[in-house]
Amino acid sequence: MNLHEYQAKQLFSQYQIPVPPSKVISDIAELEQLPDQAWVVKAQVHSGGRGKAGGVKLAKNLAETIDFSQQLLGTELITPQSGGKGLPIDKLLLEPLSDIAQEFYLSLLIDRSQARLVMIASKAGGMDIETVAEQQPEAIFQQTIDPISGLQAYQTRQLAFALGLADKAINQFTHIGLALYRLFLDTDASLIEINPLVLSKDLQLLALDAKINLDDNALYRHPKLIELRDLRQEDAREALAKQYQLNYITLEGNIACMVNGAGLAMATMDLVKRQGGLPANFLDVGGGTNADRVAEAFKLIVSDSQVKAILVNIFGGIVRCDLIAQGIIQAMQEIKLDLPVVVRLEGTNAKQGQQMLADSGLKITATQDLSTASQQVVALAKGTDRIK
Ligand code: GDP
Ligand code: MN
Repeated sequence: MNLHEYQAKQLFSQYQIPVPPSKVISDIAELEQLPDQAWVVKAQVHSGGRGKAGGVKLAKNLAETIDFSQQLLGTELITPQSGGKGLPIDKLLLEPLSDIAQEFYLSLLIDRSQARLVMIASKAGGMDIETVAEQQPEAIFQQTIDPISGLQAYQTRQLAFALGLADKAINQFTHIGLALYRLFLDTDASLIEINPLVLSKDLQLLALDAKINLDDNALYRHPKLIELRDLRQEDAREALAKQYQLNYITLEGNIACMVNGAGLAMATMDLVKRQGGLPANFLDVGGGTNADRVAEAFKLIVSDSQVKAILVNIFGGIVRCDLIAQGIIQAMQEIKLDLPVVVRLEGTNAKQGQQMLADSGLKITATQDLSTASQQVVALAKGTDRIK
């Protein structure tokens, strides 16, 4: 789960990580009481790269601030990182314009190859860090954190020296680094990034941007953080899927897949691709699925207007294939599905399930063989024009 910049900055404040004073607005009328001065107007969307996309604007005075706010609020922002999708701008963060002497990059993330947390700092702040890593790897400094001893002050000092910080900025950097580490552990984060961390003209360090990604699997431990979720920033189908405990990811193809088990789902998608088709989604309905969940999963995949054919691949290990067949029939009748469906049922009561599908009179091709099933679904997807 991602947080908005303004939410991340509130957490920063609680951990004494310095951030500029700010105001969050969701209505232009709230601007009226603001002092007439230079402001930064920042679109609150779940994506980086807002600056390049025109979502961060520097206003000279209040009149310009109101102008920029009107241009942004209520519209959508497509950034270089939003995957072509427009994200709704429901809120703006306003901050007095900071006087920047230098911009740095600072982050804390999980390095899976080392199985350790790593703190990363760079002088090339405000830039896309992946580009910096590619083009000037020597500009990136890292400290690997031992999970037993935790981040040590000497490690943050080494980063501060590498950044060329001096005097009290070194202490301030250490303070920020250690606080960031505590915040990371306390929230079960998977990434915290400050880009840019700026040194102001009066030599104070300040987090001008804030990005926090939280580990979804640990969210159950953080009811307060769950409240910060903004579903409008998330893919609508993926958000709906979470409600039904379906593991669903939207992809760009036109063949919907419904499978029980993540590994089987991956293998199914591979087979579809091998036959020359493109999966419209990844969907794992779970090992112990039931008729109701199958019905919800059906509704979910057909709500994607790209979908031209559906491949259901269920291995009845824990579940019984006859119950799955019942769920498929029930769902198809309920939503009056007009798309071709190929069903591969294997395992407990597979024959019985297939018989039920055959007797249903619905547009279902049933098979026990996965290769045949994937061939069939690819052929069907090529030959169908979706009626909508
Ligand atoms: P991002 O593009 O989504 O990462 O948004 P940022 O919050 O990083 O803002 C983009 C850029 O706007 C920053 O790298 C800064 O260069 C600039 N910026 C943001 N706030 C201020 C500010 O208060 N003063 C000045 N001079 N520049 C700012
Ligand atoms: Mn940034």
